[in-house]
Order: sequence, then C-alpha cells, then structure tokens
Amino acid sequence: MQKRSTSPSPISTAFYSTAVQIFAQCRLPLRKWFKKAARSLPWREPIDTAGQKKKWSDLTARRSPYAVWVSEIMLQQTQVAAVVPYFQNWMARFPTVEALARASEEEVLRAWAGLGYYARARNLHRGAQKMVSLEKRPVTVEEWERIPGIGPYTAGAIVSLAFGMRAPILDGNVVRVFSRLLGLDFLPGKGTAEKHLYWELARLWADAAQPGELNEALMELGALVCTPVNPECARCPLPFSCSALQGGRQNELPPVKPRARVEEVSAVALRAVSGGKVLVETRAPGSFLAGHAMFPLFHGAEAPSWRATFQQRHPGLKIVEARPAHTFRHAIMAKRYVVTVWELTVVRNAAYEPTVGSHWFPEPEADRVLTNALARKIWTRP
Ligand code: SF4
Repeated sequence: MQKRSTSPSPISTAFYSTAVQIFAQCRLPLRKWFKKAARSLPWREPIDTAGQKKKWSDLTARRSPYAVWVSEIMLQQTQVAAVVPYFQNWMARFPTVEALARASEEEVLRAWAGLGYYARARNLHRGAQKMVSLEKRPVTVEEWERIPGIGPYTAGAIVSLAFGMRAPILDGNVVRVFSRLLGLDFLPGKGTAEKHLYWELARLWADAAQPGELNEALMELGALVCTPVNPECARCPLPFSCSALQGGRQNELPPVKPRARVEEVSAVALRAVSGGKVLVETRAPGSFLAGHAMFPLFHGAEAPSWRATFQQRHPGLKIVEARPAHTFRHAIMAKRYVVTVWELTVVRNAAYEPTVGSHWFPEPEADRVLTNALARKIWTRP
C-alpha cells in the first residue's frame, strides 16, 4: 500500500509495520468467520453486475449503492433490530433513488417517523434529488461526499460495499476492534491526530482484495463478538492477533467516552379539538422538529403557564374544557422530555382565523398528518 502523501502520516514506521503484519494475519480468518456468522440483513441482499438480485449466500457480491446508502444513514444512532422494519418499509415505498427524489417531504418524513434525528431523512431526500440531477452518478468517495448528508464513513461504506473499491470506513465497531487488536488506549477525538491515525489504519485494512467484505466483516465482528462490554473472545476468530486479549485488557480498551448528561425537561402538549377537528402547528425553523406538524407544545419555563401562552398564540379560541389525559417520557438528542398531554375542547369565535403555521385536521387523518414519533405518542391514548 502507498502511504498518502497529502498530510504527514501520524503512524510511526515501527507501528505501521506492526499494523501491516497484524492485519495480514487477521484478514483470512475474519473472512472465513464472516461467511459463517454474517447476519442476513435486508440491505445485504446482493445484486449482480446487471443490478439483478442474487442469492443471499453470496455475501461477496456487490450491493445496491442505494440500499447501502439508506441503511447506513438509518443505522446512525439506531440499533439494527429497530432499523430492519423501517428499511423494508422504506424500500417498498421508495424502491429507487428516482422514487425517493419524486416523493414529497411529507411522505419522506412519514416513512421516517419513529427513527428520530429527522435531518437524516431530509438529507436523504435532498441527496436523492441532487443525484437525479447529475449527468453522471457518483462512484468515488470524493463524488459521494458531494451528496448532501454523506460523510467519509458513509461514502467509504457505499464505495467499498457497492463498487468493490478500496475505501476505508471508521465507525464505533471498527474503532473498538482496532483499539483492541493493536492495544490503542485512545479514542479518535474530533479533528485530532488520533483520528487521523484511526483513519490511516482503516485505509490500511481496506487495502486488499474484496475490501467491501473486509470492511463489513470488521463491523460485524464489533457488533456480534468484540462488543463494548464483555467481548466474547472465546468465539473470536482473531485471538492470536489481539493485543488486548494477550494483555487481559479487553474490557479496558478502548477507553470509555464520558457520557453526555441527559437533561430532563417538563413539557405540556395539547390535543385541542373543535367540531371533530384537531389543531396542529408547524414547528418553527431552528426549533427541535423544525417543519413538522406538532400539537401545541410548551416546554421548560413555558410549560406551567401553557394556558396563557396558548391563548396568546390563538386569540380566537376559547377553552371550554381541559383535562389531563396522560404523561409519557420521550428522548430527543441529550434531552428527556416528560410530556403531559391535555385534552381540550375549544370553540372558535366568529372572527377566528388560524394563525400562521397552524391548521386543523379531521381526526381520521392523523396517520397522514403526524410525521414524527413525538406527535404520534401525544395522539395515541394509552
Ligand atoms: S480477542 Fe476479544 S478483544 Fe480481541 S478482537 Fe477478538 S473479541 Fe475483540
């Protein structure tokens, strides 16, 4: 492998030689293990060079770049088991990049509802629109990185898995396996020399035949065997190459990232009904869930005085009945909202006009209108 000359490599010559040697020992046993242990996940369905589906057993065949792209975006911050039904539903609704590009944002957000981090869905949608506008579809890492929402990891996954090119990937699973195999007691912090070092290792790892299979096998080992806590070293295909196992440090490496503090926030949500229709507001730009239809929601300092704020926002409405319905918890990013839902019966006075961004929907249309998990929890009576 040629070392990249664009920036000074942080890998010392001695460490580089060690990594070359260890990776050379690991590739074959890891490939053999992967052929037996790989999970049959829907985004791993192989295709042949004409784009036709192939047998599941042929894990070394190339994949659909669109399927790899969608699955990698869904898998960010989300467990595999949770992603599977969303992925299947997504591919049934939007089987191609063209179908996704043609869909409305509302349809896209509805298909994503429940996965959270909605910027991912919007970026996928924008990415598909950009893709269909290009004369030539992206192939290389650099070309994929020009598509909205695609960073070096996703680009590396698509390019290696779908096109069989030698491109590196670096996710939490890969970092953990590298740290343990090579005895690295540091994490790849943002923009640091340590991060460059891990990426250099990832390039070195993928610099071999069938890099897509190698990359995926490494991630699978991290997901199934070399797990964050209590790795199952007795089942591991690489025990003789593992520095952590030899030093009894498999539970110490890599060092644990300090956990972000979870902030608990009180919130009040209103199901305000008038004449069989329910009030929703479009979330303001810059707020969380921006652009989504949401029931009137008051959080933090606003929550205790929700009545006054609701009346200010909707001066033509009069509350004739209000009762608390249920309370639930909902986590978004580093915040845990404790949401109390109030059911309101309201009447509209003669001069009532919906305020900008608010509208009323008939109750049977809830499934169409509510495009995020929080709104659906507010809507669903326990
Ligand atoms: S031997 Fe254990 S610690 Fe080392 S790579 Fe395998 S599972 Fe991970």
